[in-house]
Amino acid sequence: MSDENKKQEDHYICLGGCRGVSPKPGTCQAQTCASHNHALVKCSCTDGLHYDFKHA
Ligand SMILES: [Zn+2]
Ligand SMILES: [Zn+2]
Repeated sequence: MSDENKKQEDHYICLGGCRGVSPKPGTCQAQTCASHNHALVKCSCTDGLHYDFKHA
């Protein structure tokens, strides 16, 4: 098992309703999402909750 200190990296989330998360910048790929093809929003949360997806 890898037990190295994991530094929380920035990640990118979709605010359109699909709750998609990507490690890299991009656009939402969910066809049914309100933000389909819209840019993901950078998030740097450390708890995996993405601030409850309530980014401005
Ligand atoms: Zn989406
Ligand atoms: Zn997050």
